[in-house]
Amino acid sequence: MDRPFDAAVIGAGWAGLGVSYVMTKAGLSHRVLERGRIGETWLTQRWDSFHLNTPKFQTVMPGDRYEGPDPEGFYTHDEFVALLEDYAKRCCLPVVTNTPVTVLTRDGKAGVYRLFTPVGELTARAVVIASGSLNCARRPELARALPRALLQIDPSVYRNPQALPVGSVLVVGSAQSGGQIAEDLAMAGRVVFLSTGRTGRKPRRYRGRDVSFWEQKSGLFDIPRKDFVGPDGRIAGRPLLGALHTISLQSLSAQGVALLGRFTGIAYGDQVTADLDDVLRRSRHAQAHARGRVEENYGTNRALNGRALRSRSQRKPFWRGGSERPRL
Ligand SMILES: Cc1cc2nc3c(=O)[nH]c(=O)nc-3n(C[C@H](O)[C@H](O)[C@H](O)COP(=O)(O)OP(=O)(O)OC[C@H]3O[C@@H](n4cnc5c(N)ncnc54)[C@H](O)[C@@H]3O)c2cc1C
Repeated sequence: MDRPFDAAVIGAGWAGLGVSYVMTKAGLSHRVLERGRIGETWLTQRWDSFHLNTPKFQTVMPGDRYEGPDPEGFYTHDEFVALLEDYAKRCCLPVVTNTPVTVLTRDGKAGVYRLFTPVGELTARAVVIASGSLNCARRPELARALPRALLQIDPSVYRNPQALPVGSVLVVGSAQSGGQIAEDLAMAGRVVFLSTGRTGRKPRRYRGRDVSFWEQKSGLFDIPRKDFVGPDGRIAGRPLLGALHTISLQSLSAQGVALLGRFTGIAYGDQVTADLDDVLRRSRHAQAHARGRVEENYGTNRALNGRALRSRSQRKPFWRGGSERPRL
């Protein structure tokens, strides 16, 4: 058996490469095994108009800092992959591409892990699983009951409005992906229904800066993960924000997207059923979230000298259904 590596990393995404950088600095022998290419998830699971919603000054790898001319701009997914590839090359990270780890076992007697791949086996004394937590789609149970004739896709498969069959589109879920895809479709002139979830929202810009600037300054990113866990043991979903500009239920409504409440199913083949009375409740929740979180996170921090954000009342009326159900 070959001598085991000090460590093995599964996945050459943002996390795996960052861990590899730290291991390289510490002089640990290791390999990063990647099933596809560096940044595979970003190459294959993002839509055409996608931009990261993390500004460039924050989209940096360990040891790096952004020094370009556009710190509050946003990378496309291709630009981000180029950044990852450059990082791996520049830092001489030992990445092995096109090598999926299919089985991982522990050999307690030898004190090593065995990683099996289609091209061979590797042993290591420690393993970091950095295979990503958001690259396997999870559909709600209800999806199974939908008619087969209805094309159902996940955000990882969505590319652009032209790639979808003619007709109206129901987007289920109003967080980052749902909001951005609904806007992408509406801007292309498609009839879009958005079934909303209990997601908060954030403004993209605040007091002349990107909201992330204030989040960083106020120490939001230094709060440990455990402090975000709610009484139900879960971490609330990330608020709707938008990448290049603010996307909110209000902005989508203004763009002609018909807002629905929680998706409850399809009736008579093509009629969407949703809890329509839910919409206002959900939009108020999102609005309250924006107000509460912004004031809580930045309004009282020293960077603002204690000046509080004045909340704006909701201006746009929402589509509330009526006698007719939306048809797909
Ligand atoms: C639509 C969408 C948009 C997002 N936008 C942002 C954003 O703007 N900013 C932000 O900070 N976060 C964003 N995220 C969150 C994002 O997932 C994380 O920030 C980041 O990509 C996680 O990095 P990672 O390295 O953990 O995972 P990934 O980038 O998913 O990397 C995991 C890697 O592991 C590889 N892999 C998986 N299984 C195996 C295996 N068995 N063997 C070998 N390799 C394997 C994959 O091919 C992949 O390259 C977004 C997520 C989604 C879904």
